[in-house]
Amino acid sequence: MYLDCKKILNNFNEGYSRWTPGWHLLGANAAFLRLMGIRAGDASSEIPNADRESPAFYEFGKAVMRETERQDAVKNFEFRLWRGSGGHCWVCTDAWRISNAEGETAYYEAYVRDVTPFKLKEAEFSHQLFYDLLTGLPNRELFTDRLQMALETQKRHPGMHHGVLSLDLRNFKNINRHYGRNFGDMVLRHVATVLGLCCRTVDTVARTSSDGFSVLLHGPETGAQLVKIIKRIKESLAAPFTLWEQSMDSVEMDIGVLFPLSDYSKAESVLRDVSIAVSRAQAVNNKSNCKFFSKKMLEQNRQDIALSVILREKSDIKGFYLLYQPIVRGTGGLHSFEALARWQHNGKTIPPTMFIPIAEKTGFIKRLGFFFIEEAIRQMQCWQKEHNARCKLHVNISPYQFLAPDFSRNVLDILHNTGFDASSLLFEVTESSFLYDFRNAARHIGVLRENGIAFCLDDFGTGYSSLSYLKQMPIDCLKIDRSFVEMVDYDHKARILLKHILDLGEDMGYELVVEGVEKQIQLDSLGDLSRLLIQGYYFYKPLPPPSVEALFEEQK
Ligand code: C2E
Ligand code: MG
Ligand code: MG
Repeated sequence: MYLDCKKILNNFNEGYSRWTPGWHLLGANAAFLRLMGIRAGDASSEIPNADRESPAFYEFGKAVMRETERQDAVKNFEFRLWRGSGGHCWVCTDAWRISNAEGETAYYEAYVRDVTPFKLKEAEFSHQLFYDLLTGLPNRELFTDRLQMALETQKRHPGMHHGVLSLDLRNFKNINRHYGRNFGDMVLRHVATVLGLCCRTVDTVARTSSDGFSVLLHGPETGAQLVKIIKRIKESLAAPFTLWEQSMDSVEMDIGVLFPLSDYSKAESVLRDVSIAVSRAQAVNNKSNCKFFSKKMLEQNRQDIALSVILREKSDIKGFYLLYQPIVRGTGGLHSFEALARWQHNGKTIPPTMFIPIAEKTGFIKRLGFFFIEEAIRQMQCWQKEHNARCKLHVNISPYQFLAPDFSRNVLDILHNTGFDASSLLFEVTESSFLYDFRNAARHIGVLRENGIAFCLDDFGTGYSSLSYLKQMPIDCLKIDRSFVEMVDYDHKARILLKHILDLGEDMGYELVVEGVEKQIQLDSLGDLSRLLIQGYYFYKPLPPPSVEALFEEQK
């Protein structure tokens, strides 16, 4: 049977060629010529000086000649071909060197496959391994790798400085729950863009957890320089923005900072310490915060872990008690008391900002929360009886307490069992109660308000403070956060903002409490005091019950 070899070769998808050390192409099929960008009428005809016909063939041929001179034959040799305006393509080659009787190279032979589609898939795959799909930023693996490289460079060049920021979105779960996951995704992309714009291209901005970002900064020499960058980031995140017809006033992020890195040799240790700094930042009130890592934090962290073990294992309310901070009328006179929790543990007084978040994480808050409600009611009843007290009682309720389906029923049971007048009771809740699970929180609040308990939105002005949201909230009272009052004596804009918040609150029919008043100048900046209730060290600090009793005696 006659085989037309030329025809068969030309129908091959795989390229075939044979050439001499002097670049004389002895034979090549159509696929090979196409790959190399050689235009030849008759595919199998010889081409002398083929290196001049195509730069792609010149580069490819040189590489094959180099490899086969070294090891006679190569298998699966990958090469990136540059085909001028045709762009790049990847080829995979099996090639060998054929010698003459004298052992000199007579010619080279190569089979070439175009593997560009596989290479693209591979690149896409490895991109997915090291980049976050949603934001396009490097992921934790790549960030850790770059950080490790920075630490190693720093070892060789001690004058080189780096800093690491860890940024966590506050209440991100709640944003997802309330606005939906798509919106949550957009917020993440928004943050990625903002961070990218605030940093230089040599810095690495990465998404390192579901709601967390990390930044590796090259070159800051002092903490002050770092603070400038952080300020820029915070200001950009604080700007209102609209995504998908939904506007948000700002993005709240807690920031942990680690600088300098000179004591570190492992990326993992840097990441551990910066995450301690960010969790310290998260533990501060309801506001977003920034904390520089210090060795002291390691100790605090150890204490926290020890506390959480104690809270988890003992689940014992021994040592917990309440202080009572008077709230006064703007026109004068006691109006109410806010019950504020404390924990006496190992001879130390532990503030609520330390143990409430742990109790929330461990679930102990459910039991502790009811203990505080019962204890505050018992105390107030005692003062009503013995001192004829006519004050209202404010009790703080954690968002986690609303998660219990029987929360409102249990509160009503307490009222029933103690006979306490519900109209003397006011629960302070934060915005996060609604963000977490609006329907559930609103249901409990609805039931309790129907039964006479009033609700106050605590720390108003921090968090997301969405005004459109405010009108939906089933509350009776607004408590303006301390940070506004803190700023009024040196920040003119804060004074204007405070005035307008108070006007807005009044127009919406809420009772208004201003917290954190410490100085006369702050009191003076509040305008018409007759519409306000005021709480702050200027009047009273949180007091133990005997001091409250002395106060009642004084007022008789
Ligand atoms: P909060 O409910 O906003 O309570 C007001 C905090 O501000 C209290 O801190 C109070 O002592 C402090 N404060 C009041 N006036 C001034 C002032 O003029 N200057 C300054 N610098 N601070 C002032 P505290 O007692 O450390 O409580 C902190 C937070 O812990 C509370 O903030 C509340 O969120 C939480 N908390 C306290 N007790 C309880 C509780 O029984 N249950 C729950 N869930 N949270 C509680
Ligand atoms: Mg409060
Ligand atoms: Mg507050």
